[in-house]
Amino acid sequence: MRHITLTEETLADAIAEAVAALRDGALVALPTETVYGLAADAANGEAVARIFEAKGRPRFNPLISHVADPAMARHYGLFDARAERLAAEFWPGPLSLVLPRADGAPVHPLVTAGLPSVALRVPRGPARDVIAALGGALAAPSANLSGRVSPTRAAHVVDQLGDAIAIVLDAGPCAVGLESTIVSLTGDKPRLLRPGGVPAEDVERVLGTRLERAKAGDAVTAPGMLASHYAPRLPLRLNATSVAPEEALLTFGDAAISGADEAAAMLNLSASGDLVEAAANVFAHLAVLDDSGAEAIAVAPIPADGLGEAINDRLKRAAVR
Ligand code: AMP
Ligand code: MG
Repeated sequence: MRHITLTEETLADAIAEAVAALRDGALVALPTETVYGLAADAANGEAVARIFEAKGRPRFNPLISHVADPAMARHYGLFDARAERLAAEFWPGPLSLVLPRADGAPVHPLVTAGLPSVALRVPRGPARDVIAALGGALAAPSANLSGRVSPTRAAHVVDQLGDAIAIVLDAGPCAVGLESTIVSLTGDKPRLLRPGGVPAEDVERVLGTRLERAKAGDAVTAPGMLASHYAPRLPLRLNATSVAPEEALLTFGDAAISGADEAAAMLNLSASGDLVEAAANVFAHLAVLDDSGAEAIAVAPIPADGLGEAINDRLKRAAVR
């Protein structure tokens, strides 16, 4: 791991190194005004899978895509007048907007957890320079292990994630130290999904309307955890060791599944048994099999270790009907 202290002299080279690592699919820890982020190229599914692996996150919750400016953001999300107003007022800054995903948005389904929406924000500081130089969005949750507090100093990141990241850019302590405020504009009424660095009242003043508040325990506060979001139309049969007639098969590695040759359709999450590759494929493969014309989807057993925990969580939610 490279720990680069940012100064006027080191900045340009540090940005170039960070971009090269990100293009390689590696993880880079970056300072933003909120907290240090654990960043991956949002278009690269395996890189995004490594975020979940590094943090030890047991679930594929959707991640915020960080963009350089509103022009870049418009490639990812559909902006209505409300979104334009909030972006003009608060970007760069600690406000994330959840918008309908734009057609052809260069964002991997693992970033949006397969949802038709995308969360976007323009950060301040060196993270923004890295994004501009990369020319595309960075998926970046906070750079801490799952269940630990968000890191506001590079040393916190190195302690927890030093082995998983290629580079940490160190710009000293973060200014805000709070996560971004998240506002959803996917419905008629704007909704506060998470309070954070921009006071909700300031957002309400600019919108000229009150934000709906998600109640405690409301699934909307964490859309990635809502079981029904994950339900394909077809029934799913987990830990299958055989395929029934008219069933499609979602397999893993070289699992021995009887009747596999007769499956209505078949996709392998990772032929080599690589859980990072499997994580990157899980949303897209389920969608393809759901549209395959089969009557149900049989899913081979997936190991429970490492990213297997989050993959199994995703599959269990997809099986809920
Ligand atoms: P963070 O942990 O700071 O990366 O914030 C992630 C949170 O942003 C998620 O738990 C959601 O509440 C919200 N979020 C991210 N992406 C989406 C999306 N595509 N649709 C709805 N909410 C999202
Ligand atoms: Mg966090």
